[in-house]
Amino acid sequence: MRERFLAECRDFTYEGKGVCEYQGRPVFVEGMLPGDAGEVEIIYERNHQLYGEIKSLEKKSGDRIDPRCKIHHACGGCSFQCLAYEAQLGFKKKTVEEQFRKIGKMTIEALPTIGMEGGPYSYRDKIQVHFGKDDRGQMFSGFYKEGTHVLLPVKECFIENKKARLILKKVNEILNKYKSEPFFEHEDFGDFRSALIRTSYYRDETMLVLVTARYEFPHKKEIFASIKSGCPELTTLVHNINDRHTNVILGERSNIIFGKGYIEDELCGLTYRISPKSFYQVNPPMTEILYKTAIDFANLSPNDMVLDAYCGIGTIGLTCAKYVRKVVGVEIVADAIKDAKENAKRNNINNYEPYLDDAPLFMNKWAREGRKVDVLFVDPPRKGCTEKFLLSAKKLAPRTIVYVSCNPSTLARDVAFLSDKYSLEKVQPVDLFPMTFHVETIALLKKKN
Ligand code: SAH
Repeated sequence: MRERFLAECRDFTYEGKGVCEYQGRPVFVEGMLPGDAGEVEIIYERNHQLYGEIKSLEKKSGDRIDPRCKIHHACGGCSFQCLAYEAQLGFKKKTVEEQFRKIGKMTIEALPTIGMEGGPYSYRDKIQVHFGKDDRGQMFSGFYKEGTHVLLPVKECFIENKKARLILKKVNEILNKYKSEPFFEHEDFGDFRSALIRTSYYRDETMLVLVTARYEFPHKKEIFASIKSGCPELTTLVHNINDRHTNVILGERSNIIFGKGYIEDELCGLTYRISPKSFYQVNPPMTEILYKTAIDFANLSPNDMVLDAYCGIGTIGLTCAKYVRKVVGVEIVADAIKDAKENAKRNNINNYEPYLDDAPLFMNKWAREGRKVDVLFVDPPRKGCTEKFLLSAKKLAPRTIVYVSCNPSTLARDVAFLSDKYSLEKVQPVDLFPMTFHVETIALLKKKN
C-alpha cells in the first residue's frame, strides 16, 4: 500500500506541478492547483524528490475549471487543462519573474503575458505520435506518458489541429487493415515507429511524415496508395527511415511518396517553405505576435546590420529585412538553411544571407574578425546559449540584443551573464502554448554606456 495523506496545495513549480508537503518534504502533484486540498498518494520517488497523485479533492481552487481532456494527467502534455486561462497567463508571468529571481538573482517585473484570443485550443500545427499495439492486437498511435516509455493511446487531443487527428485515424485504420506491426526497439522487431503531421495555417496544405525502421516493409505500396486515396486533405507524404536506436524521431533518409515533400505557410505576410526536419513554431497567429513584438522591441533603423542567431528557416530575420540594410542568419540544421535560402528567394528579399554553422562558433569567428553588428536576435533551443556564444556576443557588442526564449530558466541564466555589459529593459511573456506550462519570453537588452 502506497502512502496517502491529506494535503493542501500552496504553490506551483515552474513546470506547473502543485506543491504539497508530507512529513516536512515537498511532494509534486500533477494537476493540483494552489488552493486545492484533498487526499494525495505518493506514487514514486526520483532523485530524492517525491511525486504524488490526487486521489480525492475536498476543496477546490477558485481557478479550477473542468478539463476538456480526460487523460491530461496521464499524458502530462497539458498540465493546465484544469486551470482557467486567465490564471494560466498569470502563472506564466510569475514563473518568468521567479526564474529571474532564483537563477539570475535579478528582481524583475515582467509585462503581462500576451494570451491567445478566440479560444486557446486546437492550435498545434505540428503533432508527433508513436505507434503501439494494444492487448487485442490492434495498432494505435499515442504519446509517451510524461517521463516514461509507456505509450498512451490518444484518440483525441484538444490542443492539436483537428485536421491532423482525422488523418491519424485513417492511417491507423489502414495499418490495421494490412496487419502492420509497430516497431519494438528492444526486440528490433516490427516496422512503424512514428508519424509527424504538419498543417499549414494560412494554406490548405498538410504533410504526413511516416517513419519506419526499415526501407522495405510488408504491403508498402498498398499502404502508401491507401493513404493517398484515403486522406484527400494530405498534400504531401514523406517516408522517413530511422534504423537507429534513438529517441530522435526522424532518421537520415527520406523519400517523397507524393506531393512537394514540404508545406508552405505564411507568417507576418511572408511565405515560407517548411521541410520535415526544419523547426517551425507550432502556433502561427501567436508566433506572428511574438515576432512583431520582438521586432518592435529591436527599434530597427534602415542602416542596421542584423544578426539572427538560431534562425531556423529564417522567419525572424526575413521579417526584419525590409526595415534594415542587411540581415545574416545562422543555423545548424542543413535542411532549415536550405529552406531559409529558398524563403529569401520566394519573398524577393535580397539583403538576407543565411549560414549553415554552429551559432557559438560562427559568433566567435565574427567577433575575432571584428565585424559590426547593430542588433542581435537570439532564439536558441531550450538549453539556451553557451558561455562561448555569450562572450562572443559581448565582444561583437551590438547596440541591442533581443533574446527570444522558450525556457525562462536558461533565459534568466544567460541574461544574468550578459548583465555586466547589457541592461535588461523589458521582459515580455507570450503564450504560444496554452494549456501547457511552456511559455515564450522576449527579453530586450541594451548595451550599457
Ligand atoms: N528562430 C527560429 C528557430 C528557433 S528554434 C524560429 O523562430 O522559427 C532554435 C533553432 O536553433 C532550431 O532551428 C535549431 O535547429 C537551431 N540550433 C540548435 N542548436 C544550434 C547551434 N548550435 N547552432 C545553430 N543553430 C542551432
